[in-house]
Amino acid sequence: CGIVGVAGNKNAVNILINGLQKLEYRGYDSAGIYVSDKDGKDCLIKRTGAISNLKKAIGSDVKGTSGIGHTRWATHGGVTVENAHPHYSQDNRFYLVHNGVIENYKELKEQYLSDFTFTSQTDTEVVVQLVDYFATKENMNAKDAFLKTLSLLDKGSSYAFQLMDREEPDTIYVAKDKSPLLIGIGDGCNVVCSDSLAMLNVTHEFLELNDGDFVTVKPDSIDIQDKDGNKVTDRKPFHVDID
Ligand code: GLU
Repeated sequence: CGIVGVAGNKNAVNILINGLQKLEYRGYDSAGIYVSDKDGKDCLIKRTGAISNLKKAIGSDVKGTSGIGHTRWATHGGVTVENAHPHYSQDNRFYLVHNGVIENYKELKEQYLSDFTFTSQTDTEVVVQLVDYFATKENMNAKDAFLKTLSLLDKGSSYAFQLMDREEPDTIYVAKDKSPLLIGIGDGCNVVCSDSLAMLNVTHEFLELNDGDFVTVKPDSIDIQDKDGNKVTDRKPFHVDID
């Protein structure tokens, strides 16, 4: 039940694991990370149980400059490695973590994805496969495919999402509605988290997100657009003092 992300830091793996450990207090049953670097090398690791299980599974070959991490509190589908996040599209191009619930995932799966191969029982996997559907079948870029997908989600749904595209390795697309999510402003990198506690060793400056916000996070930029698609230019960072 927590999310962390980092764009553009060579210690991405450590930042994600440390962040997930700081979010353990929120409760969870499984955890995972996805990391990638600029050369297109990437890595997905998921485990059920404690973050320490995940940490043990991470060998010295697991490296990256950007990545996303998740602690899951299962709502749809049992506690299994396959159902742990990040979830990925059938062509292994898109990776997604999600806190919340998608109300109409069954309808969307039936309508668009009857010929897609699924690896989990979660509501979340439908979202990442839909992004892939619009990217491949309708030739959209990742951002447009994700926005199109978000527009199809039933309004009763709740989400904090992070999406990564193998074709844009240092970019994290972020969307939020009814689940908590913050952006942290780092030095040469930017981060994402459910709670600032997770990222205080990277930054003390955070931006609050509103419901309906869509954010493009890169190592040197944070672009926010609001629920009406307008660019947000006046969001002021707030400072978190505790250590
Ligand atoms: N509904 C998703 C699942 O069951 C996300 C749960 C969560 O918020 O951790 O996998």
